[in-house]
Amino acid sequence: MDQHACRACREPAGHLVLDLGEQPASDYFPRADDPGPDPLYPLQMWLCSSCGLAQLLTDPTVPEEPRGTEPAALVAQAADAVERVAGAGLLPAGGLVAEYGSPHGGSWLGLLAGRGLGPADDGEQPDVIIDCFGLMHAADQHQALAERAARLAPGGVLLLQYHALSAILRGGQWNALRHGHYAYYSTTALTTMLAAAGFSPCTAWRFDLYGGTVLLAATRDPGGPDDVVRSLLADDARAGVRDPGTFARLQRDVQAHATALHDWLAAERSAGTTVLGYGAASRAVALLCQAQVDRRLLPAVIDASPAKQGLRMPGTDIPVVAPAELAARRPDQVLLFVPDLLAEVRAAFPDVEAAGSRWVDVESLGS
Ligand SMILES: [Zn+2]
Repeated sequence: MDQHACRACREPAGHLVLDLGEQPASDYFPRADDPGPDPLYPLQMWLCSSCGLAQLLTDPTVPEEPRGTEPAALVAQAADAVERVAGAGLLPAGGLVAEYGSPHGGSWLGLLAGRGLGPADDGEQPDVIIDCFGLMHAADQHQALAERAARLAPGGVLLLQYHALSAILRGGQWNALRHGHYAYYSTTALTTMLAAAGFSPCTAWRFDLYGGTVLLAATRDPGGPDDVVRSLLADDARAGVRDPGTFARLQRDVQAHATALHDWLAAERSAGTTVLGYGAASRAVALLCQAQVDRRLLPAVIDASPAKQGLRMPGTDIPVVAPAELAARRPDQVLLFVPDLLAEVRAAFPDVEAAGSRWVDVESLGS
């Protein structure tokens, strides 16, 4: 293999900090009757010693994940975020906005239109660029950030939202690593990346989404970071986001989580309990593969997205089925692979608990 160069600063010095071995592409959902085996690719995280960006090492070309339904938690967070950015005076009424969104869905343009911002046409310079989980999908991080920076109008603001690397480290969220997600940002690394594009962070907002999400505002004004940004940088330092040694715990968590899941499912099966999964998300793919779970242990994973129904989880024989199966199969326990969905699924499927069944947060197993 050619030596890896950082996706942001192009420097070659860095460390392999998390290795999940050969994994199916988490966005390759085969048809339920496709017997496999599914193609496997190395899944590894590399930490740049120069700019500090944690990133996907190898880059298999994989098909796009079927677009999911947008979780209510994401919709609520977007409304909260727009409210807070407006409160800071960063959304000029009558201004133009350009959005770099996530291929998994979700748009802030409607919310921003409600604040008087219209979409910038091609060739128009936006006053605001909103990038909500978009930048992470670019294989060339330097080029993607430079493109956004070059497009912004003088005096404009760049809003970048990301799942914080400090939250991944503290929460043992090793299965945030997936193909197609090329970068795992700390505020520290992003500040360095922004500086290379002539930008500096001015303020930021924190959210509980995914255990720790940050919306960072950056401008060409070298006024310096405010207290919130400074506290994020200090928090990064405490979490050890630039220290390869910090990631060793993440690597240990892989086997601990996988073993806990496998043992719990095996115990439930021995006890004669019926368990179904909920949420055919990419992090469920990585966890089920590491735990070597098949349909004998977990007969199906429910997902609200019609695009995923009739398919199966990559790397295993577990089918993805519609929420109607909750009523049809009446599981004793529903294993939730996306903890952010808990409030939403409890409200959407009250019959589960009314029938004496319970929702089990997969991240609570073994802890
Ligand atoms: Zn770098």
